[in-house]
Amino acid sequence: MTDNTQRDNSVNNSLGHAAMITMTEVNKWYGDFHVLKDINLTVKKGEKIVICGPSGSGKSTLIRCINRLEEHQQGQIIVAGNELTSDLKNIELVRREVGMCFQHFNLFPHLTVLENCTLAPIWVKKMPQKEAEQIAMQYLERVKIPEQANKYPGQLSGGQQQRVAIARSLCMTPQVMLFDEPTSALDPEMVREVLDVMVELANEGMTMICVTHEMGFARQVADRVIFMDMGEIIEENTPQAFFDNPQSDRTQLFLNQIL
Ligand code: ADP
Ligand code: MG
Repeated sequence: MTDNTQRDNSVNNSLGHAAMITMTEVNKWYGDFHVLKDINLTVKKGEKIVICGPSGSGKSTLIRCINRLEEHQQGQIIVAGNELTSDLKNIELVRREVGMCFQHFNLFPHLTVLENCTLAPIWVKKMPQKEAEQIAMQYLERVKIPEQANKYPGQLSGGQQQRVAIARSLCMTPQVMLFDEPTSALDPEMVREVLDVMVELANEGMTMICVTHEMGFARQVADRVIFMDMGEIIEENTPQAFFDNPQSDRTQLFLNQIL
């Protein structure tokens, strides 16, 4: 009995240490503008990372490089064992493993909630429609809006739309979820319902990178908080150390502005 338990733990530990995302010396330019400077970042399976920093510091660009919505020019990015290069097959492999939620939801307005959720499983995974619908309903239940399945995005509140966007991503069973300021376009009373879904996802063991200024969320779920400024990672620490004892003046200044 004891032996088995120990073996199970060691399996979990070894899984827990596997790198899901590795960025090594990543540099990116928009024309002459050096937007990402020598980014080094490793995210282990199951880790939750919060990225914060001033507007224009490169947060969106960094996470968009992870699913190749943006292309890096130097350095190496490996996601779930696949290196991101211009090889389209590899890009497709990575995109299957990486779900993304944006500030403005990006749902298809002319499709119902259910159709938004089944589109990629049917067309990308070639899943039969009935099966895709069953799975979509399970995820809509998890984000607590199964009753909205046949409505159009425009008939839903912002908080509901963002929860649909999360369910839609989960329908592809990604190994990693990226969030780019998922609550910053929402009315204040809707922020909590979206954060609650994200906390639940975190507790279930999803690997997550979240660009957010919701510092309560960062304290609650982040294993590490990363502070970016002017295209660089300035500071990286546990939430407690980050908030209670920021190391750099720039971090301190930023925290003074948002807290
Ligand atoms: P953040 O998400 O931290 O606000 P971004 O990654 O969106 O920052 O942008 C970083 C910088 O790169 C900003 O100065 C922005 O104006 C610039 N930028 C973003 N996208 C582009 C683009 N497609 N072309 C040129 N410059 C861009
Ligand atoms: Mg941004």
